[in-house]
Amino acid sequence: GAERTKNVLILMSDTGGGHRASAEAIRDAFRLEFGDEYKVFVKDLFKEHAGWPLTDMERSYKFMVKHVQLWKVAFHSTSPRWVHCLYLASLAAFYAKKVEAGLKKYKPDIIISVHPLMQHIPLWVLKWQGLQNRVVFVTIITDLNTCHPTWFHTGVNRCYCPSEEVSKRALLDGLEPSQIRVFGLPIRPSFCRAVLVKEDLRKELEMDPELPAVLLMGGGEGMGPVKKTAKALGESLFDKEHDQPIGQLVVICGRNQTLSSALQAHPWKIPVKIRGFETQMEKWMGACDCIITKAGPGTIAEALIRGLPIILNDFIPGQEVGNVPYVVDNGAGVFSKSSKQTASLVARWFGPESEELKRMSQNALKLAQPDAVFHIVKDINELAQQLGPLSRISYTLTSSFYQPM
Ligand code: UDP
Repeated sequence: GAERTKNVLILMSDTGGGHRASAEAIRDAFRLEFGDEYKVFVKDLFKEHAGWPLTDMERSYKFMVKHVQLWKVAFHSTSPRWVHCLYLASLAAFYAKKVEAGLKKYKPDIIISVHPLMQHIPLWVLKWQGLQNRVVFVTIITDLNTCHPTWFHTGVNRCYCPSEEVSKRALLDGLEPSQIRVFGLPIRPSFCRAVLVKEDLRKELEMDPELPAVLLMGGGEGMGPVKKTAKALGESLFDKEHDQPIGQLVVICGRNQTLSSALQAHPWKIPVKIRGFETQMEKWMGACDCIITKAGPGTIAEALIRGLPIILNDFIPGQEVGNVPYVVDNGAGVFSKSSKQTASLVARWFGPESEELKRMSQNALKLAQPDAVFHIVKDINELAQQLGPLSRISYTLTSSFYQPM
């Protein structure tokens, strides 16, 4: 129709790979469902428009997850509401002007946050600018279970929770049932819409056509005991008696270049592919028969869609703890901290316990929610419609708020 294109601004931060993957999932689903009706911008707003310390969020996150104890302390010490409110209040004063600049640049009709720290500041700025009733603001939570309370803000139009567990937490934190929807974690449409045939993928990715394959990864940053596990698999998947491999290995190191160089230098007895950051994860998952990963929500949800049994070998304390029972209690995988045990389990799955592998694969498929991302964008579209025929929002913002001291 003659209706103008609406602007959607997705706020994310490149910590790990999960937030970016969710943001891209939303963007792609908007394009598939609504074509030119929406123009979607995916922005790391704080990185582009603000200085220290939010631009450092990515770096401090990487530092902290490497120093797990520190991350534990940070996660729990910022949990009491007054601590993070005070912390955010001081940040907000400093960054409000920068956020305003972001609003001016993208003129969003709809703002979508896929990050636990991107509710408060943008919502405050909208309020100060008198825009809170004219811009749709929604949060899409990307943790499956034990998520950080900064995700929950009562001022949002919608809070999309990936699981019932998260929606219960949202209710406890004061959100109204009418604000909450549970559709599942948004996964890139390339995962759910493409018809992938394992034999074709193996050919394309130059893998062995016959041998069962295990995919080993550790999120966007290549975290967890990847090196140790890879080496253990190199032993367990080699049949010494018959001097031949019983399986093949794909290691996706993400942005961890130290890891990928170390693994490249290792002498392998089985067919191995060692890769850096891959943009077509659905193909690698589609070519393999099971996956070993830290408990990242994105990777888990994607593996479930591909029907891959999951061995969880690590988790980030705090937000990823709850992802473990989600997988294990639903029979879609196991948790194993020991690289040796992990490696021998895979060898058994590829040998005498192949029925177990099949059963877990079926359970994984039952848990999968490939359509979540489409339910979410359709719901956002309805919200935008309810707001009435959107007239071009005037973004002549008052800049009276920020007065340098
Ligand atoms: N990912 C990717 N390419 C890579 C490694 C990871 O696209 O080389 C994606 C992966 O498919 C998933 C996300 O990055 O969507 C990782 O998210 P997750 O929540 O599992 O962990 P995080 O990296 O955020 O800690």
